[in-house]
Amino acid sequence: MTLAVPRPVAAERELDGQVAIVTGGSRGIGRAIVTEMARRGADVVFTYRTDDAGARDTIAGVDALERRAVAQRADVRDAETARHVTAAALDLFGRIDVLVNNAGVARDAVVWKMTAEAWADVIETDLTAAFRFIRAAVPPMRERRYGRIVSIASINALRGKFGQSNYAAAKAGLIGLTKSVAREVGAFGITANVVAPGLIDTAMAAAMPEEVRQRSIAETVVGRLGTVEDVAQAVAFLAGPAARHITGTVLSVDGGQHM
Ligand code: NDP
Repeated sequence: MTLAVPRPVAAERELDGQVAIVTGGSRGIGRAIVTEMARRGADVVFTYRTDDAGARDTIAGVDALERRAVAQRADVRDAETARHVTAAALDLFGRIDVLVNNAGVARDAVVWKMTAEAWADVIETDLTAAFRFIRAAVPPMRERRYGRIVSIASINALRGKFGQSNYAAAKAGLIGLTKSVAREVGAFGITANVVAPGLIDTAMAAAMPEEVRQRSIAETVVGRLGTVEDVAQAVAFLAGPAARHITGTVLSVDGGQHM
């Protein structure tokens, strides 16, 4: 008797023919995620707020991989952005397989000096926008009985961080949002997960005082900062078909910084 064993799909092409939406793709971790999605075969619609030159560079990187990337300049704090971007992805490509909620900001202050505006800005950008994108992307995913939702939180959602009550609250909110959504969409072939990076070597980390950077490195067990590619690999795995049995989970990408 011959068993019909499905052929393993090469990881690098596992998103062939798929379409991904990524928020905040003009630089940093978001650009690495867009590029990794394209490297694995997906076409990508990504958003950004201000960095036109960065968005063009992201597109050029995807062009070089012979995939299509479409940039949408839009503020994710705007209540209509998620609906517009989702509609554009469906118009252009006819499907949405993957949603990555990556756009995020930090506006640090100790809680007794935190302005209402800094609180609201971070909650809107890092949490409410993810809710709106998930709400917009789930119906087309449900229709096709397939979807992958990955949201970028932070280890500071899990451990708290001096000066980051707004950021840690928003990122912890993403985890509760994700677990609830995972329960709601599981029956439709859709998974929802969180990636929680530790300190990653981006412009933000480069701008930190050297002793703060060194303290973060000392907290890891691998003795280095993570790279944007380290995060993108974890996101791409959770965004792929191979991760079908993983949902409602938080995957730390932090070199052991928080455990
Ligand atoms: P960057 O600041 O380098 O990039 C942020 C991206 O989000 C940019 O593309 C930016 O667009 C976009 N963005 C920000 N605000 C808005 C908005 N209101 N509307 C639309 N787009 C917006 O961030 P990182 O790459 O460092 O971080 C990416 C994610 O990873 C964030 O959610 C962050 O909280 C999280 N993270 C980062 C860590 C790190 O060490 N870097 C550690 C843990 C988590 P534009 O540039 O055009 O304004």
